[in-house]
Amino acid sequence: MQRSTGGCCSFTLLVAVIGIVFCFVECVGGSSHHASNNTSNGINDLRCQVILNHVVYEPDSQGHTARDEFYGCHPILPSGGVSGQMFKVELPDHIGQDEKERIRRGQPVVLSVPGGTLSLEHVRIPNATAVHVVNNLPDSSRRKLRIAPAKEGVLSLLPIRIITPDSEPTYSADRLHEVLFLEEVSLNQQMRRCSFDKLGFKPTKYGVLEVFVDVNAKGSPYSVISNAADALAIELVDEVVENIREAADLVMFIIPPGTNGGWAAYGNVNGVGTTFNNRWAAYPGAQMHEIGHNLGLFHAKDGGNEYGDTTGSMGSAPDIPNYPKRCFNGHVSCTAAFEGSPALGLQGFPL
Ligand SMILES: [Zn+2]
Repeated sequence: MQRSTGGCCSFTLLVAVIGIVFCFVECVGGSSHHASNNTSNGINDLRCQVILNHVVYEPDSQGHTARDEFYGCHPILPSGGVSGQMFKVELPDHIGQDEKERIRRGQPVVLSVPGGTLSLEHVRIPNATAVHVVNNLPDSSRRKLRIAPAKEGVLSLLPIRIITPDSEPTYSADRLHEVLFLEEVSLNQQMRRCSFDKLGFKPTKYGVLEVFVDVNAKGSPYSVISNAADALAIELVDEVVENIREAADLVMFIIPPGTNGGWAAYGNVNGVGTTFNNRWAAYPGAQMHEIGHNLGLFHAKDGGNEYGDTTGSMGSAPDIPNYPKRCFNGHVSCTAAFEGSPALGLQGFPL
């Protein structure tokens, strides 16, 4: 069933996917031949592109914000492409700082996990000592691996509003379109302002893409919902893509309320994906923060507080619509995102 709504190119497609998540594990897991590379010793070799994610949690009753940092595995497909589905992976201790720094910088790092399999949320590693980074990737593979987004120009952004049998995001597709692209303190307008009009965002022809996932949000890990949505979304776009991240410069998953844990949002560092817990997708503080991670920005600390510098968007984010009209602090802007721009943040943007 397909429904198009007029105003801002919203696009609704409902697809039933009974058991999609379980099917994915069965079909792509290391125990099958689909995402595995047979090695000469006959052991299936699960391969992942590794990315770094930063998660922020809802403030607790004292207003404290917790964070988490984890590595995600995007399984390498038999074609050499990369699945958009993401599984948490623990990097063994012998994976060194050099490789971790490459991951932080958004450079292609492929991990080989002999005998590895995929559970709903995680990569299962039977033998940590056998895990290694694959060097000498052929150029054809490198081209298919995710790269960091451009920091200038007008980037296309594909928001995916996920509906489940028991839940749907508070904000409609039309409302999300407004708070992402149109309003004065939307992601687009705020990033333009903060980059001196070097960087902005536009929707794709799909507008806010709505995807129905037949897995209840309540009791599910957020990655199970976003992985199922990714698998469906690639069937809904005109382009032939292996993961939905190929259909736009940036992709944003909006998860309906009810998933496990008190998380608010997370973003790939030097990557193209962000994921928001329901209404956090509409708050400019969170939008700028997570897209900031995509642009390679890290947190603005103050003393021992990871998010302590709230003069800029890489500090903590308030859960308030259309607020704050805030940029990045001078250090964050100059070291990462908008080199060559005049100094930002401390000299003239209201909080
Ligand atoms: Zn963060």
